[in-house]
Amino acid sequence: MNEHDSEMLAGMLINLGYWENPVRNQADVILINTCSVRENADKRFFGTLGQLKKEKRNRPELVVGVCGCMMQQQHVVDTLKAKYPWVDLVFGTHNIHEFPLLLENILNERKKLVSVWDDGEEIVEGLPVHRKHPFKAYVNIMYGCNNFCTYCIVPYTRGRERSRNPEEILKEVQKLVADGVKEITLLGQNVNSYKGPKPDRVTFALLIYALNKIDGLERIRFMTSHPKDLSDELIQAYVDCTKLCPHIHLPMQSGSTAILKRMNRKYTKEGYLALVEKLRNAVPDIAITTDIIVGFPGEKEEDFEETLDLVQKAQFDSAFTFLYSIRKGTPAEKYGEQIPEDVKHQRFSRLVEAVNSISVEKNQAHVGRVEEVLVEGQSKTNRNALTGRTGGHKLVNFKGGKDLIGQIVKVRIIDSTTFSLTGSLE
Ligand code: SAH
Ligand code: SF4
Repeated sequence: MNEHDSEMLAGMLINLGYWENPVRNQADVILINTCSVRENADKRFFGTLGQLKKEKRNRPELVVGVCGCMMQQQHVVDTLKAKYPWVDLVFGTHNIHEFPLLLENILNERKKLVSVWDDGEEIVEGLPVHRKHPFKAYVNIMYGCNNFCTYCIVPYTRGRERSRNPEEILKEVQKLVADGVKEITLLGQNVNSYKGPKPDRVTFALLIYALNKIDGLERIRFMTSHPKDLSDELIQAYVDCTKLCPHIHLPMQSGSTAILKRMNRKYTKEGYLALVEKLRNAVPDIAITTDIIVGFPGEKEEDFEETLDLVQKAQFDSAFTFLYSIRKGTPAEKYGEQIPEDVKHQRFSRLVEAVNSISVEKNQAHVGRVEEVLVEGQSKTNRNALTGRTGGHKLVNFKGGKDLIGQIVKVRIIDSTTFSLTGSLE
């Protein structure tokens, strides 16, 4: 979601006549889009900002702007005002569309500007987007989150759930396809609770059925889906809609029902496993990936073992694993029994080992198969190799000319590692 916001900010700058300069000390405007979901990103932001102090001293005409989730937290804005006087512009997630206006004000008046809205009002349509790839695109279908998982800052920084009108989404995707896009990724914090306006109240699954009919569109993906709201209707959409990629990212967070309760996730370990089974029954080769947090307050060794057990039983293709980090203003910040760092790290290593050994086996199972791959670009390490993704979102490296970039090609898988597959063009 942040990446897509950055694409929109870049789109606005390009509309104003700016272009991207990879050399930081030649740029007229430096804008940092922040994420506040975990502590690491937070720390990196302040580190990067520190480096800009000298830059701004040498070139006072440089505009330093900061935006994104972190700005929605008053304590961050207070810190910026007190300790980072070289920042010219601060704005938040709800008024991204104001950016060109804010920038113009700064350039005209050369005064600092802080403009953070408390909540999103109406959804602003039609913002320009500068896409990273011409052949694939992110499409927001909803904003905000109502779930208030007790560890998570998102409901406080992105506001309440608001769904876009399905007509607007279809129009946007049609335009993207006319522009050469083959793959779209629908974005929302919990796409399963997407709801179009009255009286039709289009559901997420129905939206997919409608998108599936668009000629020229080849692949539909989405992120992210909360297990508590995963409907049978959506599982059926995987069966009926040929363009919906056989992959689901279904964050489990923990395998302990007690911890899930304290996280306010509203499902149990057994409930989660039942969903995995239903998905695999409907779509036998579906790739399932997940997010897991270790070291949530009160997580005992037995709880952690439940997590390892769920990982074993669910057999994920891959998983993002996170060390729990306290987020200011969330309920879990106040929970007792915070887990010592060394225990968290030790559990984290055990978890990564478990997850990776399953990924190795899952990837191995693809050797010998022929897969459809959307070619995304040249490999970073080998200029003669191309890299792309299968429908199940697996990374594949194979030899081929760069004229294939942006196309869907057939690749025979000949080898595999923990994180990728190697193949040859069929
Ligand atoms: N809306 C998505 C998640 C967005 S945040 C969903 O509910 O699936 C992405 C991931 O960051 C979460 O799934 C969670 O695993 C992790 N995360 C969020 N808050 C965290 C925290 N305080 N500490 C560690 N990981 C966190
Ligand atoms: Fe955060 Fe939970 Fe909302 Fe995901 S569903 S954004 S984890 S509060």
